[in-house]
Amino acid sequence: MSTVSSAASRQGEATLDTIAWIRLSSVTLPLATPISDAKVLTGRQKPMTEVAFLFAEIETTEGHSGIGFGYSKRAGGPAQFAHAKEIADNLIGEDPSDIGRLWTKLVWAGASVGRSGVATQAIAAIDIALWDLKAKRAGLPLAKLLGAHRDSVQTYNTSGGFLHTPTDQVLDNATASLASGIGGIKIKVGNPDRKADLARLTAVREHVGDDVPLMVDANQQWDRPTAQRMGRAMEEFNLVWIEEPLDAYDAQGHAALAASLDTSIATGEMLASVAEHVELIKANACDIIQPDAPRIGGITQFLKLATLAEHHNLQLAPHFAMEIHLHLAAAYPIEPWVEHFDWLEPLFNERLETRDGRMHLSSRPGLGITLTEQARAWTVAKHEVGARP
Ligand SMILES: [Mg+2]
Repeated sequence: MSTVSSAASRQGEATLDTIAWIRLSSVTLPLATPISDAKVLTGRQKPMTEVAFLFAEIETTEGHSGIGFGYSKRAGGPAQFAHAKEIADNLIGEDPSDIGRLWTKLVWAGASVGRSGVATQAIAAIDIALWDLKAKRAGLPLAKLLGAHRDSVQTYNTSGGFLHTPTDQVLDNATASLASGIGGIKIKVGNPDRKADLARLTAVREHVGDDVPLMVDANQQWDRPTAQRMGRAMEEFNLVWIEEPLDAYDAQGHAALAASLDTSIATGEMLASVAEHVELIKANACDIIQPDAPRIGGITQFLKLATLAEHHNLQLAPHFAMEIHLHLAAAYPIEPWVEHFDWLEPLFNERLETRDGRMHLSSRPGLGITLTEQARAWTVAKHEVGARP
């Protein structure tokens, strides 16, 4: 840190630190097995074989650094990278602490492509890197910078219960998850063969016992009457929630279901902006909201949504990217859940600790992540702006 800015800090004046350098990397993560949820069984999508990540690394003139990421499943990764590449140079020379203003500046730089979807997902990686940088500068884990309500968050496993996995393997995966300290088990449903869904759910409930928190996820593949019937049939399993029973944008349908079932309804992962989530909240569409920070434009946007959700007494169970969402869930007032996925582990040198059914914050500052050599090797495109200090 320079003498001038140290003195300025002591006197309570604004620092002179500015963003000097940004590197954007497009990284393709291969998945060990092709993944299928209900969208594949209904023919809407192909099995997923890889995930495209957009990483943003930022350094400042005073030597502070931050890393953030967004992602895209199936199509969209190259578009996120291309958009970020076009707008990133607007940040050179800016104060990295003014994150809200910088988010707005980047949106205006690409205003004609809108304030949702790919456009703001490209900004998300940069926004998340700025939050990481701010927390690291403070010497705090991000959750502590935001104001944590807890040091650990109840966690559940998703990756073990996909529809391409035979039931016997799903049961073994559940045993392994519970043994590793993960508290809840989620399985995919939405199989066009409804009896197969119920048989699998019965097998899992019998296997894990009545006390383990259990959730199902239909990935939007039921119509309204099917969701009603399946929801009613599933009441006896004492589920924590039924996730995405209907099309992600059917707020009214979700609201009717939420009103008629005892089981909680969870949704929101597919939505691409805070504005889209507001439609869910206004319609009373869910009991548990599932925003995804990289999908809705980053942490700055997530925090706005979290405030709205709390005012509506919603529970929070953010989607995917536990490396980011552990911090955001820890800072949410109403007891949340965080989704455990091991897919991203090859990208990062650090591991998140699970114990007693909960995922624990580490003492590492910021998000607490650094990229592996393997992640560098999976980089398919790179773009740098500014000069590294
Ligand atoms: Mg889901």
